[in-house]
Amino acid sequence: MIGNNLYPVTCTLFSSSVPNPQPPTPNPQSKMSTWQCVKQCGACCNLDPAERPDLEEYLSPPELELYLSMVGEGGWCVNFDHTTRECRIYSNRPRFCRVESEVFQDMYGVEPEEVNDFAIDCCRQQIEGVYGDRSLEILRFDKAVGL
Ligand code: SF4
Ligand code: SF4
Repeated sequence: MIGNNLYPVTCTLFSSSVPNPQPPTPNPQSKMSTWQCVKQCGACCNLDPAERPDLEEYLSPPELELYLSMVGEGGWCVNFDHTTRECRIYSNRPRFCRVESEVFQDMYGVEPEEVNDFAIDCCRQQIEGVYGDRSLEILRFDKAVGL
C-alpha cells in the first residue's frame, strides 16, 4: 500500500467491454460491492502531480516521463475530453490508466483478489479529491458499485 496519496490513474474508463476485476471472496457479514467505472466521471484523468507525490515509486522512468507529458491545464490530462468526459485515446491509453489485475499487481503489489476493493478505494479517493465528497459524481459512483 502507498499511504493515503492518490494513485496515478485508475481508469479502465468508459467501456463496458473491459472486464471487471475479480470481486473479492464474498463476505456474508458485509454488503457486496463490485467496482465499475461510471460514465461522466473522469476524476482519475486529473493527473496533478502535486496530488501524487509518490509517482516515481510505481512508475518506471519512461512512464513517469509520459505521465508528466500528459499533464495539462489544471492538472487535467491533455487526452481528456471535458465535454464528453471521455478519453480521446482510450484504446491506446497508457498502462497506468488501466484497471487490470496484472497492472495493479505490478505497480502496487495488489493481489488479484484485492483488486476490486483497491479499485473502489482508488476511485473514491480520486472522485472526492476532484469533485468533492458530496458531489454528484461520488453519489453516482457509490450507487453504481453498490455502496
Ligand atoms: S475515478 Fe473511477 S469511476 Fe471515475 S472515471 Fe476514473 S475509473 Fe472511472
Ligand atoms: S490517457 Fe485517457 S484514461 Fe489516461 S488519464 Fe488521459 S484521458 Fe484519462
